[in-house]
Amino acid sequence: VAKGLLERLAEGPVLGDGGYLLELEKRGYVRAGPFTPEVSITHPDALAGLHREFLLAGVDVLQALTFYASEEKLATVGLAGRVDDINRAAMEAARAVAAEGDALAALTLSMTWAYDPRDSRSRDRIRAMFDRQIEVAIDVGCDLIVAETFTWLEEALLATERAKRTGLPLVTTVAIEERPHDMEGHSPAECARRLADAGADVVGINCMRDPERTLPLMQEVREAVEGYVATQPVAFRTSEDRPSFTAYREFPFHLDPLQLTRADMAAYAGQAQSMGINYIGSCCGSVAAHVRAMAKVLGKVDDDEREWEIDYDKPRSAYEYHKHTEMT
Ligand SMILES: [Zn+2]
Repeated sequence: VAKGLLERLAEGPVLGDGGYLLELEKRGYVRAGPFTPEVSITHPDALAGLHREFLLAGVDVLQALTFYASEEKLATVGLAGRVDDINRAAMEAARAVAAEGDALAALTLSMTWAYDPRDSRSRDRIRAMFDRQIEVAIDVGCDLIVAETFTWLEEALLATERAKRTGLPLVTTVAIEERPHDMEGHSPAECARRLADAGADVVGINCMRDPERTLPLMQEVREAVEGYVATQPVAFRTSEDRPSFTAYREFPFHLDPLQLTRADMAAYAGQAQSMGINYIGSCCGSVAAHVRAMAKVLGKVDDDEREWEIDYDKPRSAYEYHKHTEMT
């Protein structure tokens, strides 16, 4: 039996996986625009294959592609009636591949597209949506829940409330888009405190920002809470002017030249570890090669394998190139 999340966190940094939807879109299995997760029923082998790449890279956690698998979001592509099928197939894929190695399978909860801060009735609707995803995941079998990419703290709190009822370990992270706070004006530190108080075992920030735009906010999170903290930034270069990669004209078809190198992501993993971040992962734009570089830095692969592998201290030419083009 694989060690649980909390046991792993007690021993040292836990390595999360990378991004799924953007990579599967590049491979031809996901529609750009809606970026909905029906690949779990249309091409389950493609999804399992990407899980396997992350497993081989050395991750501790595989997140089921239940991101955006809510009735509201799937209705935008005419698949509202397939919600349970899509969630079940996604959880089964993560569960099966995790069992091939020493990884944990996580249910992913994310923004439902049903949250309306002005409508208190939307809260009960969202609770029901999360409960439906949780019920399917428990039925298949999941080791933990990762609730992520919430731009409203209140929706993240609803996910935390529903996930806590399962008794499973829970990671809840928010997405900080253009401004250094959520859509309702809460700072990253306040989001982290409220989520920790609500019972999330691990709290932090994921998606939207590159590591350089995420780690300073994570410093505030680290100082705000006593418990475990997590971050999963994107592997696309963003800037102070536009910290969120979805705000770029380049999104989604011209992002390639903005993609970070393995060396960039390895450097990020090392920085995150030295800051005391406990759950170190990545999000959109991060593929198995990035995650493998992070795994080496975090000591998740054998030492003898390190010796002949890439020297990550070499000049980071692509990184320097982006720096230059940002300034001119
Ligand atoms: Zn992302």
